[in-house]
Amino acid sequence: MPELPEVEILKEELRREVVGRRVEEVVAFEKTEGQFPIVQLREAVEGRAVVGVRRWDKMLVLDFEGGRSLLIHLMMVGQLLLSPPFAGQPRDVCLELKFADGARLTLGQVRLKYVHLLPTAEVDNWPPIAKLGVDPLDESFTVDLLRRLLAKKRGMIKTTLMNQAAIAGLGNVYSDEILFRARLHPQRRASELSEEEVERLHASIVAELQRGLELGGSSEMAFLHLDGSEGSYQESFQVKGRKGKPCFACATPIERIKVGGRGTYFCPRCQASYQSSSSSNSSQSPSS
Ligand SMILES: [Zn+2]
Repeated sequence: MPELPEVEILKEELRREVVGRRVEEVVAFEKTEGQFPIVQLREAVEGRAVVGVRRWDKMLVLDFEGGRSLLIHLMMVGQLLLSPPFAGQPRDVCLELKFADGARLTLGQVRLKYVHLLPTAEVDNWPPIAKLGVDPLDESFTVDLLRRLLAKKRGMIKTTLMNQAAIAGLGNVYSDEILFRARLHPQRRASELSEEEVERLHASIVAELQRGLELGGSSEMAFLHLDGSEGSYQESFQVKGRKGKPCFACATPIERIKVGGRGTYFCPRCQASYQSSSSSNSSQSPSS
């Protein structure tokens, strides 16, 4: 599913391509549109231009003239495509914004219940947004903040990384790649990481998200850029999907376990367990 880098990429592309465009017509395709405020949406955005695009966690927010905002969550396989340049349209289109210049922004492979219309002034305080944790691409995400977040968590580090109320935007793919980069076992207890390990984890989160952005995101599942092109992050996964294949660092076969119900890939040697790798259980302080 799209995680933070993929949605960040779409946000930037929407800012470049869609801000300033005026909506001529809104079309909803889903049969259950009775529950969707399509009439209000038409009233709110038809004849009005997009004035801004923002992102909260994995939620895209299109702000319109007149003080209304359209919130879109792509869930597992949602696609948002602009044509042209994209020549076709996604499968299972649920919503389409037709712009006055002939371009069309089309949302597919997601249910309309994940699309919301809100007054722009209320977006910040909308409960699903207000309860989100820190955005790891934001400059407020410091080592110190991560240390304080982890100290309060009783769960495993992988589960904590994916807890949207703690750190917003990390999912199953980036979490595994981050923990491999940080050389941390996914089942380590979040609150028991050493000072040095927290620093390493922080650097790994920032670096891995940056790598995802630079590679255009992961199109392992359904993510496409606004123009229909694919990202290439999935081509350089270190552990994700590599069960039984040799670790790129040490040649030990990558293992797959379940952590918090989610398939989790890791190198049992590079990310050795707490007991076998750490000196924390002894009276000696870490030597390196
Ligand atoms: Zn390894």
